[in-house]
Parts: sequence; structure tokens; C-alpha cells
Amino acid sequence: MIIMPESWEDIVLRLLRAAQTRLPPDVKWALEAAAAWESDPTARSQLGAILDNSSRAEFLVRPMCQDTGLPVFFVKGRIPPGIEASIAAGVARATAAIPLRPNAVDPLSREVSGDNIGSGPLVHCRPSDADYTELSVLPKGAGAENMSRLAMLTPSDGDDVIKDFVTRTVLQAGGRPCPPTVVGVGIGGTADACMALAKEALLIPLDQENPDPRLRRLEEELFVALNSSGLGPMGLGGDTTVLGVRALAASCHTASLPVAVNLNCWAARRASVRVHSDGTVEYTQGAFP
Ligand code: SF4
Repeated sequence: MIIMPESWEDIVLRLLRAAQTRLPPDVKWALEAAAAWESDPTARSQLGAILDNSSRAEFLVRPMCQDTGLPVFFVKGRIPPGIEASIAAGVARATAAIPLRPNAVDPLSREVSGDNIGSGPLVHCRPSDADYTELSVLPKGAGAENMSRLAMLTPSDGDDVIKDFVTRTVLQAGGRPCPPTVVGVGIGGTADACMALAKEALLIPLDQENPDPRLRRLEEELFVALNSSGLGPMGLGGDTTVLGVRALAASCHTASLPVAVNLNCWAARRASVRVHSDGTVEYTQGAFP
């Protein structure tokens, strides 16, 4: 969808409203397909309740979960000056307008900031010479985010050790991240970069093929292994533990092999926009009215 220019603050509000109230089309399709294929009656009823809940959220234009998460942003391409301040202003407006639960607190005093910003917005920048700016938001609920894990594996560990770490992370999380989840996997970089990579992987639509054949095979093998585990929706058993596995890789030190897992719950909220150099605004990910 392409619309006329608007301010970054307006764009942030629009992204957050879409992400909070409407499932991205690929996630909705994956949930509907899972409900159709699921053989376990309890799992089918859980998936039915999830779909019913998201339809009501869309109809009422209200958040699909009481935990509206902490908004995490990725800015790619041209990085506009002052983008952090615009994001903060947009998040504060969205918190009041949608409304969103004020989740941001001081980590020690636990004092609530009230605006979902606190000490500053969570922004990852990926500058490039592209002639557009791409801004994405992932509202991250605590149930899924708390299950994030990093392993500093040894370089001689192969695919099987990576798969074992990812599988154990998802299965040990059980029902806490509200499965069926989307599993973001980061491989390489440094410890901090690897964690960000795992989160960035959650931005890749479920119906988009990974261009790297090694990562594609890893995603497919993990998808089959996790959905054969029997964990099921909400950890209550069934065939549908994950809706997808998305992986990204980056170069790392010859003596390192970092691997990170970041989960999105069934409410796999995300939305993206591209603002082109001529000022046109193109909403590229998420469901917009
Ligand atoms: S993990 Fe997701 S679905 Fe579960 S309570 Fe948190 S935000 Fe809601």
C-alpha cells in the first residue's frame, strides 16, 4: 500500500496500531493451516481460540493480547536524523491512543515510565546506501522474550549441535512463550550481534524462502523436528509447536560460533514501512486497514 507522505511520528503510530491489532497475513495463514491439519482435539480448540481472539481484535481495533510488549525497532537503509526522537514520540502517542499497556519500567526500582519508552526506545540501525528508509517494529511480549537464549558454541560444533541447542531452547520454554511460536535463529557475529540477528530473523515473512540454501535446510529440519516434538499449542500437546523457523547468519571470529534464539509467540506482531527518497510511503509488512 502506497500513501502520501506523513511524519515519522505518524508512521510509528500507524505501524504499532497495525502490528497490535492485526496478524500479518502470513502468520494468519499459518495458524489457519495449522488448525486445519492439527490432529489433536485440544490443540485444535486452542488454535480456534487464537484465531477467534485475533478476529475480534481486528474487528474491534484493539490489541490481540493484554501484554502489548515492548516495541523493538529496526531502521535500515538511509538513517533519518532524529529518528530515535520521532520513534519515542510515536510510541508515546500509540501508548495513549491504541491504547497499549505501559510495560516499560526501570529495571531496578521497577518504576513504570507510563509511555513504553523509559530510558529510550529500543532501536537497531542497519545503515546502507539504499535510496529508502525501512522502519520495522516488533512488539515483544515478555512470555516469548524471556525465553531468549545465547550459546557460544565451539567452532568445530556442526549443524547437529546448533539444531540441538535450538530444539532444547524451544522445548524447555514449554508453554511459557505461548506456542505455536515463530523461532528466530541468529548464527555468527559477536554475542550481542548474534542476539540482534535472531530478533531480526523474526521480521522475515513465513512465506519467504531463505536465499541461503544452508540456512533453508536448517530451518526446514528444525521445523519438522519441533513440530514432531508433541509440545503443541500453549504446550498442551499437539502437532503445532512452531509456525516457522527463520534464520540469519553473519561472519564471526574464527575461534567463535555464537548461536542465538529469539521467539515470537503466536501473536507474531510485526509491521514495516519503506519511505522512498521521493517521500512516498509504502507499507510492506503487516496488515493495514
Ligand atoms: S507471550 Fe505473546 S501471546 Fe503470550 S502473553 Fe505474551 S504477548 Fe501475549
